Amino acid sequence: MIKKFIFFLLLMYSATGFAQVYKPLDTADYIQRKEFLKKFSANNELLIKNLKIKYSGKTGSELSKIYKEFEKDFEKKVKEKDFIFTSVFDSKVKSLIERLRKNNPQIPKELQILIAKDNTPNAYCMADGTFVINMGLFNWLNNDDQVASVISHELGHKIEEHSLRTFMSFINDDQQDKITVQNIKATAGNKNQKAFDILKSRMYKKGVEKRKDEMQADSLGYAVFKNSDFIKGEFVNALKRLQDFDTISPRELKIETYKKYFNFPKQAFQDKWLKKEDFSLYNYDHFKEKLDKDSLASHPEVILRIERLKKIFPELKTSSSSEKASESFISLEKIARMEILPNFYHAEDYGLGIYTSLQFLQDAEEEKYYEKWLGKCFAKIYEGRKNYNLNRYLDRVDPKNQSESYQQFLNFMWNLSLDEIKNISDYYQNKNS
Ligand SMILES: [Zn+2]
Repeated sequence: MIKKFIFFLLLMYSATGFAQVYKPLDTADYIQRKEFLKKFSANNELLIKNLKIKYSGKTGSELSKIYKEFEKDFEKKVKEKDFIFTSVFDSKVKSLIERLRKNNPQIPKELQILIAKDNTPNAYCMADGTFVINMGLFNWLNNDDQVASVISHELGHKIEEHSLRTFMSFINDDQQDKITVQNIKATAGNKNQKAFDILKSRMYKKGVEKRKDEMQADSLGYAVFKNSDFIKGEFVNALKRLQDFDTISPRELKIETYKKYFNFPKQAFQDKWLKKEDFSLYNYDHFKEKLDKDSLASHPEVILRIERLKKIFPELKTSSSSEKASESFISLEKIARMEILPNFYHAEDYGLGIYTSLQFLQDAEEEKYYEKWLGKCFAKIYEGRKNYNLNRYLDRVDPKNQSESYQQFLNFMWNLSLDEIKNISDYYQNKNS
Protein backbone atom coordinates (compact mmCIF):
# COMPACT_ATOMS: atom_id res chain seq x y z
CA MET A 1 0.00 0.00 0.00
CA ILE A 2 1.25 3.46 -0.78
CA LYS A 3 1.28 5.53 2.33
CA LYS A 4 0.57 8.81 0.69
CA PHE A 5 -0.60 10.23 3.96
CA ILE A 6 2.77 11.61 4.91
CA PHE A 7 2.91 13.86 1.92
CA PHE A 8 -0.04 15.95 2.91
CA LEU A 9 0.77 16.69 6.47
CA LEU A 10 2.79 19.69 5.62
CA LEU A 11 -0.05 21.32 3.80
CA MET A 12 -1.50 22.01 7.19
CA TYR A 13 -0.53 24.65 9.68
CA SER A 14 2.32 23.84 11.96
CA ALA A 15 1.95 22.99 15.60
CA THR A 16 4.25 25.59 17.05
CA GLY A 17 5.49 25.78 20.58
CA PHE A 18 4.91 22.12 21.20
CA ALA A 19 8.20 20.35 20.77
CA GLN A 20 10.28 21.38 23.75
CA VAL A 21 7.71 19.93 26.09
CA TYR A 22 6.14 17.29 23.91
CA LYS A 23 6.40 13.80 25.26
CA PRO A 24 4.84 10.97 23.23
CA LEU A 25 1.72 9.42 24.76
CA ASP A 26 2.29 6.82 27.42
CA THR A 27 1.49 3.27 26.40
CA ALA A 28 2.47 1.64 29.70
CA ASP A 29 -1.13 0.97 30.60
CA TYR A 30 -0.82 -2.64 31.67
CA ILE A 31 -3.86 -2.81 33.95
CA GLN A 32 -6.28 -1.21 31.51
CA ARG A 33 -5.06 -3.45 28.75
CA LYS A 34 -5.53 -6.52 30.89
CA GLU A 35 -9.04 -5.46 31.86
CA PHE A 36 -9.93 -4.68 28.29
CA LEU A 37 -8.77 -8.08 27.09
CA LYS A 38 -10.75 -9.84 29.78
CA LYS A 39 -13.91 -8.06 28.75
CA PHE A 40 -13.21 -8.50 25.06
CA SER A 41 -12.70 -12.21 25.46
CA ALA A 42 -15.94 -12.59 27.42
CA ASN A 43 -17.88 -10.61 24.82
CA ASN A 44 -16.39 -12.66 22.03
CA GLU A 45 -17.34 -15.93 23.74
CA LEU A 46 -20.89 -14.67 24.05
CA LEU A 47 -20.93 -13.62 20.42
CA ILE A 48 -19.74 -17.06 19.31
CA LYS A 49 -22.33 -18.75 21.49
CA ASN A 50 -25.12 -16.69 19.95
CA LEU A 51 -23.86 -17.25 16.41
CA LYS A 52 -23.84 -21.00 16.99
CA ILE A 53 -27.45 -20.84 18.11
CA LYS A 54 -28.44 -18.73 15.13
CA TYR A 55 -26.46 -20.64 12.50
CA SER A 56 -26.36 -24.37 12.95
CA GLY A 57 -24.07 -26.89 11.29
CA LYS A 58 -21.11 -25.96 9.16
CA THR A 59 -21.85 -22.23 9.02
CA GLY A 60 -21.98 -21.97 12.81
CA SER A 61 -18.79 -23.87 13.41
CA GLU A 62 -16.89 -22.04 10.67
CA LEU A 63 -18.04 -18.68 12.02
CA SER A 64 -16.96 -19.73 15.47
CA LYS A 65 -13.53 -20.65 14.08
CA ILE A 66 -13.18 -17.26 12.38
CA TYR A 67 -14.13 -15.32 15.50
CA LYS A 68 -11.80 -17.40 17.68
CA GLU A 69 -8.96 -16.79 15.26
CA PHE A 70 -9.88 -13.16 15.22
CA GLU A 71 -9.74 -12.93 19.01
CA LYS A 72 -6.27 -14.46 19.10
CA ASP A 73 -5.00 -12.07 16.48
CA PHE A 74 -6.59 -9.02 18.02
CA GLU A 75 -5.30 -9.95 21.48
CA LYS A 76 -1.81 -10.05 20.05
CA LYS A 77 -2.21 -6.56 18.67
CA VAL A 78 -3.45 -5.25 21.98
CA LYS A 79 -0.47 -6.82 23.74
CA GLU A 80 1.89 -5.30 21.20
CA LYS A 81 0.50 -1.91 22.24
CA ASP A 82 -1.07 -1.04 18.92
CA PHE A 83 -3.73 0.81 20.89
CA ILE A 84 -3.56 3.37 23.65
CA PHE A 85 -5.88 3.33 26.62
CA THR A 86 -7.31 6.28 28.52
CA SER A 87 -5.72 8.90 26.31
CA VAL A 88 -6.89 12.44 25.60
CA PHE A 89 -8.67 11.11 22.51
CA ASP A 90 -11.06 8.91 24.51
CA SER A 91 -13.23 11.60 25.99
CA LYS A 92 -13.57 13.34 22.63
CA VAL A 93 -14.71 10.17 20.87
CA LYS A 94 -17.06 9.31 23.74
CA SER A 95 -18.62 12.76 23.62
CA LEU A 96 -19.09 12.52 19.84
CA ILE A 97 -20.83 9.16 20.24
CA GLU A 98 -23.03 10.56 23.02
CA ARG A 99 -24.07 13.40 20.73
CA LEU A 100 -24.92 10.87 18.02
CA ARG A 101 -26.83 8.74 20.48
CA LYS A 102 -29.28 11.45 21.53
CA ASN A 103 -31.98 10.78 18.92
CA ASN A 104 -30.69 7.40 17.80
CA PRO A 105 -31.72 4.52 20.06
CA GLN A 106 -30.52 2.06 17.38
CA ILE A 107 -26.88 2.77 18.27
CA PRO A 108 -25.64 -0.25 20.25
CA LYS A 109 -25.40 0.41 24.00
CA GLU A 110 -22.14 -1.32 24.76
CA LEU A 111 -19.50 0.40 22.69
CA GLN A 112 -15.91 0.28 23.86
CA ILE A 113 -13.54 2.84 22.42
CA LEU A 114 -9.99 2.00 21.39
CA ILE A 115 -7.57 4.52 19.91
CA ALA A 116 -5.14 2.96 17.42
CA LYS A 117 -1.58 4.17 16.94
CA ASP A 118 -2.22 4.32 13.22
CA ASN A 119 -1.71 7.36 11.00
CA THR A 120 -4.23 6.45 8.31
CA PRO A 121 -7.62 8.16 8.63
CA ASN A 122 -9.76 5.14 9.35
CA ALA A 123 -12.09 3.58 11.89
CA TYR A 124 -13.84 0.27 12.30
CA CYS A 125 -16.36 -1.27 14.60
CA MET A 126 -16.03 -4.89 15.67
CA ALA A 127 -18.80 -7.41 16.10
CA ASP A 128 -18.65 -7.25 19.90
CA GLY A 129 -19.05 -3.46 19.87
CA THR A 130 -15.41 -2.47 20.23
CA PHE A 131 -14.93 0.69 18.22
CA VAL A 132 -11.42 1.35 16.93
CA ILE A 133 -10.55 4.92 16.00
CA ASN A 134 -7.25 5.63 14.25
CA MET A 135 -5.31 8.65 15.43
CA GLY A 136 -4.92 9.58 11.76
CA LEU A 137 -8.53 10.74 11.67
CA PHE A 138 -7.60 13.66 13.91
CA ASN A 139 -4.77 14.52 11.60
CA TRP A 140 -6.56 14.37 8.34
CA LEU A 141 -10.12 15.49 9.04
CA ASN A 142 -11.01 19.10 9.76
CA ASN A 143 -13.38 19.10 12.73
CA ASP A 144 -15.55 17.19 15.22
CA ASP A 145 -18.42 16.91 12.75
CA GLN A 146 -16.24 15.10 10.21
CA VAL A 147 -14.95 12.61 12.77
CA ALA A 148 -18.56 12.05 13.85
CA SER A 149 -19.42 11.41 10.17
CA VAL A 150 -16.84 8.63 9.96
CA ILE A 151 -18.11 7.15 13.22
CA SER A 152 -21.69 7.25 11.85
CA HIS A 153 -20.62 5.53 8.65
CA GLU A 154 -18.96 2.76 10.66
CA LEU A 155 -22.07 2.44 12.79
CA GLY A 156 -23.92 1.93 9.51
CA HIS A 157 -21.69 -1.08 8.76
CA LYS A 158 -22.21 -2.32 12.28
CA ILE A 159 -26.00 -1.97 12.24
CA GLU A 160 -26.13 -3.96 9.00
CA GLU A 161 -23.51 -6.46 10.27
CA HIS A 162 -21.52 -6.18 7.05
CA SER A 163 -18.46 -7.96 8.36
CA LEU A 164 -20.53 -10.93 9.48
CA ARG A 165 -22.00 -11.10 5.98
CA THR A 166 -18.52 -10.97 4.47
CA PHE A 167 -17.45 -13.91 6.62
CA MET A 168 -20.63 -15.76 5.67
CA SER A 169 -19.94 -15.44 1.96
CA PHE A 170 -16.42 -16.75 2.61
CA ILE A 171 -17.84 -19.79 4.28
CA ASN A 172 -20.45 -20.34 1.59
CA ASP A 173 -17.80 -20.63 -1.09
CA ASP A 174 -18.62 -17.54 -3.02
CA GLN A 175 -16.44 -17.83 -6.11
CA GLN A 176 -15.17 -14.26 -6.02
CA ASP A 177 -14.29 -14.55 -2.36
CA LYS A 178 -12.57 -17.87 -2.90
CA ILE A 179 -10.10 -16.17 -5.18
CA THR A 180 -9.46 -13.40 -2.71
CA VAL A 181 -9.00 -15.87 0.12
CA GLN A 182 -6.29 -17.56 -1.90
CA ASN A 183 -4.66 -14.19 -2.44
CA ILE A 184 -4.67 -13.53 1.27
CA LYS A 185 -3.09 -16.88 1.95
CA ALA A 186 -0.41 -16.19 -0.64
CA THR A 187 0.48 -12.73 0.60
CA ALA A 188 -0.10 -12.72 4.35
CA GLY A 189 2.66 -14.36 6.33
CA ASN A 190 0.45 -14.89 9.29
CA LYS A 191 -2.75 -16.80 8.68
CA ASN A 192 -4.35 -15.40 11.81
CA GLN A 193 -4.13 -11.96 10.33
CA LYS A 194 -6.79 -12.89 7.83
CA ALA A 195 -9.98 -12.33 9.78
CA PHE A 196 -8.68 -9.19 11.39
CA ASP A 197 -7.64 -7.60 8.12
CA ILE A 198 -10.91 -8.40 6.47
CA LEU A 199 -12.77 -6.74 9.25
CA LYS A 200 -10.38 -3.85 9.43
CA SER A 201 -10.66 -2.71 5.88
CA ARG A 202 -13.06 -4.97 4.06
CA MET A 203 -10.45 -4.62 1.36
CA TYR A 204 -10.95 -8.14 0.13
CA LYS A 205 -14.48 -7.45 -0.84
CA LYS A 206 -14.47 -6.51 -4.45
CA GLY A 207 -16.19 -4.09 -6.77
CA VAL A 208 -19.94 -3.91 -6.84
CA GLU A 209 -20.50 -5.74 -3.56
CA LYS A 210 -18.16 -3.43 -1.74
CA ARG A 211 -19.69 -0.33 -3.25
CA LYS A 212 -23.11 -1.55 -2.24
CA ASP A 213 -21.94 -1.98 1.35
CA GLU A 214 -20.32 1.44 1.35
CA MET A 215 -23.44 3.12 0.01
CA GLN A 216 -25.60 1.37 2.53
CA ALA A 217 -23.26 2.39 5.35
CA ASP A 218 -23.31 5.95 4.00
CA SER A 219 -27.07 6.27 4.00
CA LEU A 220 -27.55 4.46 7.31
CA GLY A 221 -24.72 6.48 8.77
CA TYR A 222 -26.11 9.74 7.50
CA ALA A 223 -29.57 8.85 8.83
CA VAL A 224 -27.94 8.59 12.28
CA PHE A 225 -25.81 11.68 11.76
CA LYS A 226 -28.65 13.97 10.68
CA ASN A 227 -30.69 13.14 13.78
CA SER A 228 -27.99 14.70 15.92
CA ASP A 229 -26.84 18.28 16.24
CA PHE A 230 -23.85 18.07 13.90
CA ILE A 231 -23.68 20.23 10.77
CA LYS A 232 -25.21 18.10 8.02
CA GLY A 233 -23.00 19.22 5.14
CA GLU A 234 -19.90 18.00 6.97
CA PHE A 235 -20.90 14.42 6.21
CA VAL A 236 -20.19 15.03 2.52
CA ASN A 237 -17.12 17.13 3.36
CA ALA A 238 -15.68 14.21 5.32
CA LEU A 239 -16.14 11.89 2.34
CA LYS A 240 -14.41 14.38 0.07
CA ARG A 241 -11.60 14.79 2.55
CA LEU A 242 -11.02 11.03 2.77
CA GLN A 243 -10.98 10.86 -1.00
CA ASP A 244 -8.23 13.50 -1.07
CA PHE A 245 -6.13 11.21 1.08
CA ASP A 246 -5.94 8.79 -1.85
CA THR A 247 -5.74 11.22 -4.73
CA ILE A 248 -3.71 14.36 -3.98
CA SER A 249 -0.28 14.36 -5.62
CA PRO A 250 2.67 13.77 -3.33
CA ARG A 251 4.74 16.59 -1.99
CA GLU A 252 8.37 16.89 -3.00
CA LEU A 253 11.40 16.37 -0.79
CA LYS A 254 13.99 18.77 -2.17
CA ILE A 255 17.60 17.85 -2.97
CA GLU A 256 18.75 20.75 -0.77
CA THR A 257 17.07 19.06 2.16
CA TYR A 258 19.26 15.96 1.75
CA LYS A 259 22.31 18.18 1.43
CA LYS A 260 21.38 20.11 4.53
CA TYR A 261 20.65 17.19 6.82
CA PHE A 262 23.30 14.70 5.67
CA ASN A 263 26.39 16.84 5.53
CA PHE A 264 28.50 16.53 8.71
CA PRO A 265 32.08 17.48 9.60
CA LYS A 266 32.89 13.80 9.97
CA GLN A 267 31.02 12.72 6.86
CA ALA A 268 30.54 15.14 3.97
CA PHE A 269 27.54 14.83 1.70
CA GLN A 270 28.17 12.78 -1.45
CA ASP A 271 26.28 13.28 -4.70
CA LYS A 272 26.51 9.59 -5.51
CA TRP A 273 24.04 8.92 -2.71
CA LEU A 274 21.35 10.47 -4.89
CA LYS A 275 22.05 8.24 -7.87
CA LYS A 276 18.89 6.59 -9.11
CA GLU A 277 18.40 3.01 -10.07
CA ASP A 278 18.06 2.63 -13.83
CA PHE A 279 14.50 2.03 -14.83
CA SER A 280 15.01 3.15 -18.42
CA LEU A 281 13.57 -0.13 -19.61
CA TYR A 282 10.24 1.20 -18.55
CA ASN A 283 8.40 3.69 -20.65
CA TYR A 284 7.87 6.56 -18.29
CA ASP A 285 5.30 8.32 -20.46
CA HIS A 286 3.22 5.24 -20.32
CA PHE A 287 3.71 5.11 -16.58
CA LYS A 288 2.76 8.68 -16.07
CA GLU A 289 -0.52 8.13 -17.79
CA LYS A 290 -1.10 5.00 -15.79
CA LEU A 291 -0.20 6.68 -12.53
CA ASP A 292 -2.65 9.49 -13.16
CA LYS A 293 -5.33 7.00 -13.99
CA ASP A 294 -4.59 4.95 -10.92
CA SER A 295 -4.71 7.89 -8.64
CA LEU A 296 -8.12 8.72 -10.01
CA ALA A 297 -9.32 5.19 -9.52
CA SER A 298 -10.96 5.82 -6.17
CA HIS A 299 -12.40 9.07 -7.46
CA PRO A 300 -15.54 7.87 -9.23
CA GLU A 301 -16.35 5.63 -6.25
CA VAL A 302 -16.63 8.53 -3.86
CA ILE A 303 -18.33 10.78 -6.40
CA LEU A 304 -20.92 8.08 -6.95
CA ARG A 305 -21.40 7.70 -3.23
CA ILE A 306 -21.88 11.43 -2.77
CA GLU A 307 -24.30 11.61 -5.71
CA ARG A 308 -26.35 8.84 -4.25
CA LEU A 309 -26.45 10.45 -0.83
CA LYS A 310 -27.67 13.67 -2.42
CA LYS A 311 -30.38 11.81 -4.24
CA ILE A 312 -31.70 10.19 -1.08
CA PHE A 313 -31.17 13.25 1.12
CA PRO A 314 -31.89 16.39 -0.92
CA GLU A 315 -30.72 18.67 1.90
CA LEU A 316 -27.15 17.62 1.04
CA LYS A 317 -27.41 19.13 -2.43
CA THR A 318 -26.11 22.50 -1.35
CA SER A 319 -22.45 22.04 -0.58
CA SER A 320 -20.58 24.13 1.95
CA SER A 321 -16.97 24.53 2.96
CA SER A 322 -15.65 23.00 6.16
CA GLU A 323 -16.62 24.50 9.49
CA LYS A 324 -13.97 25.87 11.79
CA ALA A 325 -12.64 23.34 14.27
CA SER A 326 -13.35 23.58 17.99
CA GLU A 327 -10.54 24.40 20.41
CA SER A 328 -10.59 20.88 21.76
CA PHE A 329 -10.34 19.43 18.26
CA ILE A 330 -7.37 21.65 17.44
CA SER A 331 -5.53 20.49 20.52
CA LEU A 332 -6.13 16.83 19.62
CA GLU A 333 -5.04 17.54 16.08
CA LYS A 334 -1.73 18.85 17.41
CA ILE A 335 -1.21 15.77 19.55
CA ALA A 336 -2.07 13.43 16.67
CA ARG A 337 0.46 15.31 14.55
CA MET A 338 3.19 14.93 17.15
CA GLU A 339 2.34 11.23 17.44
CA ILE A 340 2.94 10.58 13.72
CA LEU A 341 6.58 9.66 14.29
CA PRO A 342 5.99 7.59 17.44
CA ASN A 343 3.31 5.75 15.47
CA PHE A 344 5.56 4.99 12.50
CA TYR A 345 8.29 3.92 14.90
CA HIS A 346 5.92 1.66 16.77
CA ALA A 347 4.83 0.04 13.50
CA GLU A 348 8.52 -0.44 12.59
CA ASP A 349 8.01 1.78 9.53
CA TYR A 350 11.47 3.28 9.99
CA GLY A 351 11.94 4.24 6.33
CA LEU A 352 8.67 6.15 6.29
CA GLY A 353 9.62 7.64 9.63
CA ILE A 354 12.81 9.08 8.15
CA TYR A 355 11.02 10.34 5.06
CA THR A 356 8.34 12.02 7.14
CA SER A 357 10.87 13.54 9.57
CA LEU A 358 12.69 15.05 6.59
CA GLN A 359 9.42 16.52 5.32
CA PHE A 360 8.83 18.20 8.66
CA LEU A 361 12.44 19.35 8.84
CA GLN A 362 12.26 20.77 5.32
CA ASP A 363 9.55 23.07 6.62
CA ALA A 364 11.59 23.87 9.72
CA GLU A 365 8.92 22.43 11.96
CA GLU A 366 9.93 21.30 15.46
CA GLU A 367 13.53 20.68 14.44
CA LYS A 368 14.83 19.16 17.65
CA TYR A 369 11.91 16.77 17.85
CA TYR A 370 12.25 15.50 14.29
CA GLU A 371 16.04 15.33 14.43
CA LYS A 372 15.65 13.07 17.43
CA TRP A 373 13.30 10.78 15.50
CA LEU A 374 15.61 10.86 12.51
CA GLY A 375 18.36 9.49 14.76
CA LYS A 376 16.13 6.85 16.31
CA CYS A 377 14.91 5.61 12.93
CA PHE A 378 18.42 5.57 11.47
CA ALA A 379 19.59 3.47 14.41
CA LYS A 380 16.94 0.88 13.49
CA ILE A 381 17.82 1.08 9.79
CA TYR A 382 21.42 0.40 10.80
CA GLU A 383 20.40 -2.70 12.74
CA GLY A 384 18.26 -3.88 9.84
CA ARG A 385 21.07 -3.39 7.38
CA LYS A 386 23.54 -5.15 9.63
CA ASN A 387 21.22 -8.11 10.07
CA TYR A 388 20.30 -8.37 6.40
CA ASN A 389 16.62 -7.65 6.98
CA LEU A 390 16.39 -4.04 5.89
CA ASN A 391 13.60 -5.05 3.50
CA ARG A 392 11.32 -5.23 6.49
CA TYR A 393 11.73 -1.57 7.30
CA LEU A 394 12.46 0.10 3.99
CA ASP A 395 10.50 -0.18 0.74
CA ARG A 396 12.15 -1.17 -2.51
CA VAL A 397 12.01 1.28 -5.40
CA ASP A 398 8.86 0.66 -7.38
CA PRO A 399 8.35 3.21 -10.20
CA LYS A 400 4.83 2.02 -10.86
CA ASN A 401 3.50 2.84 -7.45
CA GLN A 402 5.69 5.55 -5.96
CA SER A 403 6.08 9.26 -6.49
CA GLU A 404 9.33 10.61 -7.96
CA SER A 405 10.20 12.12 -4.62
CA TYR A 406 9.70 8.91 -2.69
CA GLN A 407 11.68 6.95 -5.28
CA GLN A 408 14.53 9.44 -4.91
CA PHE A 409 14.40 8.96 -1.15
CA LEU A 410 14.50 5.17 -1.42
CA ASN A 411 17.41 5.33 -3.84
CA PHE A 412 19.25 7.53 -1.37
CA MET A 413 18.60 5.15 1.50
CA TRP A 414 19.64 2.02 -0.40
CA ASN A 415 22.78 3.78 -1.69
CA LEU A 416 24.12 4.42 1.82
CA SER A 417 26.78 2.03 3.11
CA LEU A 418 26.55 0.41 6.54
CA ASP A 419 29.18 2.78 7.94
CA GLU A 420 27.49 5.81 6.47
CA ILE A 421 24.21 4.80 8.05
CA LYS A 422 25.97 4.33 11.38
CA ASN A 423 27.50 7.81 11.19
CA ILE A 424 24.14 9.42 10.45
CA SER A 425 22.52 7.50 13.27
CA ASP A 426 25.26 8.50 15.75
CA TYR A 427 25.20 12.11 14.65
CA TYR A 428 21.47 12.60 15.19
CA GLN A 429 21.26 10.46 18.30
CA ASN A 430 23.95 12.57 19.98
CA LYS A 431 23.14 15.93 18.48
CA ASN A 432 20.44 17.18 20.83
CA SER A 433 21.21 15.14 23.88
ZN1 LIG B 1 -17.17 1.80 4.93
